[in-house]
Amino acid sequence: MLVASASLLNINVVILDQGPNAPAKQIAAPRTPELAHVDGAFSDPAKIRELAGKVDVLTVEIEHVDAHALADIEKETGKAVHPAPRTIQIIQDKFAQKEWLAKAGCAVSGFVDVDSTPEAIRQTGEKLGYPFMLKSRTLAYDGRGNFVVESADKVEDALKALGNRPLYAEKWVPFAKEIAVMVVRSASGEVRSYPAVETVHKENICHLVICPLRSSDPAVAARAQDVAEEAVKTLEGAGVFGVEMFLLDDGKIYINEIAPRPHNSGHYTIEACETSQYENHLRAILDLPLGSTSLKVPSAIMLNILGASPSLSEITSFADFALTVPGCAVHLYGKAESRKGRKMGHITLTGDSDAQVRARLRPLLERLPGGPS
Ligand code: ADP
Ligand code: MG
Repeated sequence: MLVASASLLNINVVILDQGPNAPAKQIAAPRTPELAHVDGAFSDPAKIRELAGKVDVLTVEIEHVDAHALADIEKETGKAVHPAPRTIQIIQDKFAQKEWLAKAGCAVSGFVDVDSTPEAIRQTGEKLGYPFMLKSRTLAYDGRGNFVVESADKVEDALKALGNRPLYAEKWVPFAKEIAVMVVRSASGEVRSYPAVETVHKENICHLVICPLRSSDPAVAARAQDVAEEAVKTLEGAGVFGVEMFLLDDGKIYINEIAPRPHNSGHYTIEACETSQYENHLRAILDLPLGSTSLKVPSAIMLNILGASPSLSEITSFADFALTVPGCAVHLYGKAESRKGRKMGHITLTGDSDAQVRARLRPLLERLPGGPS
């Protein structure tokens, strides 16, 4: 999606990812042989250096990269890296990220460091109460890295699931809603936020994004934007950031986590906002004027298309049906294999009212791969 936006602005993009058919490489044909994409892992310092040799500005679409290599390249070559490697380092360790936010005065719920031993996890249960959320500090995504410890009996199961990873724990947050705000910051430090949205997760994976956030208290959405902007201002570097938050019944907002890149909760911006998160990410890292983050439709919903099995045909038949729904934009990611819970694409519905968009959503939910939702 970033590459699609880049092509409209004649920006050449060189991709580092594994395989010649990685989704982003399917979009951008190299304009010259020197700009050929790089085949390799984004955790491989040699491959990151090879990529850096071909470009003027480096950015990431995932935070699980070798941030030390990026820091070295920035120092040695003076090339811009966005967001700052230091920001990527803080964010890629969720415990360090929480400590950073807490120290900066951003609202986060209780969290503690935990050793990967049964005694340490039991003590954490006594300290935080049950249930609590045990999390891997690193390499977590789509809930792969989280374990809900419901009681002291579940400590062994928790260790079986996450025991070989560096851990920390969070107090259980009894949220009323999960919400998110995309924030864009320019190289010169200007910050703009997109409207607050509600995110609905199923089995720890984002299922729906409902835009804009509706709440009995109309001030909540603006407050969420403020919380997100203040958090992003504590971090260095340009680009878009996805700020995931918990909204409690009493109106309190806690930050859950920040993504230093375009984010699933911002996909709706492609059809629903004056400038998409992808275009604004490019504008930010290339020091171009930022675009408006305003909504251009009254209502929008994004629905993720998750794999239910290895079958690719159930993805395409869902997409074929989605094409019959008015106001529905289909995005398929070109991934060669499907599996349960894998993000294979998404759809965004736009309309004149929440009621219209929800009516358009209903038949799609009934036909999701893997059964109705
Ligand atoms: P990921 O990196 O997989 O997105 P998150 O830390 O955002 O991991 O957790 C995934 C989901 O798990 C959240 O969106 C939320 O639904 C739930 N969750 C995470 N932390 C807590 C918590 N402390 N209390 C209650 N639910 C939580
Ligand atoms: Mg998350």
